[in-house]
Amino acid sequence: MIYTDKTPQQFHGEQPQETDVLIIGGGIIGVCTAYYLAKKGVNVTLCEKGRVAGEQSSRNWGWIRQQGRDEPEIPLSIEARRLWAQLCEETGEDLGYQANGVYYLAEKPGDLESFETFVSLAQKYELDTCMISRAQVHEDIQGKAGRWIGGMHTASDGRVEPGQATLGIAKAAERLGAVLCENNAVRTLVKTGGKITGAVTEQGEIKAAQVVLAGGAWSSLFASNAGIKLPQLSVELTVAATQAVPDICPANASDNTFALRRRQDGGYTVALKNNQTHHVGLDSFKFLRQWLPNMAENMKGTSVKPAAPKHYPDHWMQKRSWNGDETSPFERMRVLNSKPNQKELTALTAAFADRFPQLKGTKLQSAWGGLIDAMPDFMPVIDKAPKHENLHIVTGFSGHGFGIGPSVGRLMADVLTGKPAGHDLSSFAFGRF
Ligand SMILES: Cc1cc2nc3c(=O)[nH]c(=O)nc-3n(C[C@H](O)[C@H](O)[C@H](O)COP(=O)(O)OP(=O)(O)OC[C@H]3O[C@@H](n4cnc5c(N)ncnc54)[C@H](O)[C@@H]3O)c2cc1C
Repeated sequence: MIYTDKTPQQFHGEQPQETDVLIIGGGIIGVCTAYYLAKKGVNVTLCEKGRVAGEQSSRNWGWIRQQGRDEPEIPLSIEARRLWAQLCEETGEDLGYQANGVYYLAEKPGDLESFETFVSLAQKYELDTCMISRAQVHEDIQGKAGRWIGGMHTASDGRVEPGQATLGIAKAAERLGAVLCENNAVRTLVKTGGKITGAVTEQGEIKAAQVVLAGGAWSSLFASNAGIKLPQLSVELTVAATQAVPDICPANASDNTFALRRRQDGGYTVALKNNQTHHVGLDSFKFLRQWLPNMAENMKGTSVKPAAPKHYPDHWMQKRSWNGDETSPFERMRVLNSKPNQKELTALTAAFADRFPQLKGTKLQSAWGGLIDAMPDFMPVIDKAPKHENLHIVTGFSGHGFGIGPSVGRLMADVLTGKPAGHDLSSFAFGRF
């Protein structure tokens, strides 16, 4: 289930005058950070401009994977796998978590070669990732005979119901004392003597010893108003949920152009892979230098449109600077409710029927769009902001931040309380661009 600005408000926290940590953004990153801080007894306030999990964190595929990650993210994904299981226990909420495995399915010999490269890397981290034969693939997944020539499988990977999981963790954070305020955009930061000392929200000023920017696709716009250049761009994707159908694959699986995940309601979340749209805006030019080195890789499967819909973060007419006493762009779009692309939905239905002929005629019961925030090297920024003491930037998860949300939240809670992160964060440094 996705959330929009029509979804009833669930968190009515009253903004305090002062807090130890202020979190900007109620996606999985902000919510997990709030949860682990509250668990430590830290006074934490989270402000969300619209609805908790309204944007990427309820619109994603719900894959929790270690498989196929870039090496710097592997330790985070291993810890996250453990934390997802623990969160189910300690929050008592139904997060929809199941360790049912992830399959990458090969369609040509080159796919198998790239899987083998990851399997060697996985061995270094003692992951249970392995190559599987064509016969094994077709035994595990009831697809069209001979459709795939082999695959890679990680049995300990899994899935959650993304919106439900984010909301569940948010409720648990609130029970532990975190203050969660929906419909409350953070407009600007307050700086005193060169240090960040709080922020101005649409409800007024809040003093904060530390601030965490976890604004998803809005982070770059927020940062730029504070004089920080964060080379983040966005791409839009279409996702759909089928009606309930017989179980043809209990796990998550994808090949080169199609992906599916079994849902708790008996349907599948389905999407076309490597199929996204970039809406050109001012930032596309502003950050061209940082994006150029990886352009060929970044453009794979990306179609380009000349302009983003109105009020999107990088719309041509977007307001780029404002003060705390003015309505900010964040209030103009409470929840970025991207529309699904109708042409893609037709292609998606055909792709599903092609792979699972026995389910031809399956109807899509809902469909939605999601705007992914991406960095030029597809890795997040998890770092202190330059020249802004007390501000931490945790954003740019480039289409795979949901699964590692719990470990990022845990490590941020440690960093914010003066403890070591427990992971090497050098690959996520702000200064790498
Ligand atoms: C279609 C799709 C499929 C994906 N599939 C997967 C997957 O299978 N597995 C995986 O691991 N990842 C996946 N991802 C990526 C994953 O969803 C994101 O990386 C993750 O949800 C990012 O979380 P976040 O908290 O950083 O951002 P978001 O969830 O976008 O949350 C940011 C929040 O900040 C709020 N905000 C912004 N600015 C302000 C402000 N000034 N004041 C107050 N609030 C503000 C926004 O309203 C928003 O709610 C997918 C993403 C999409 C779109």
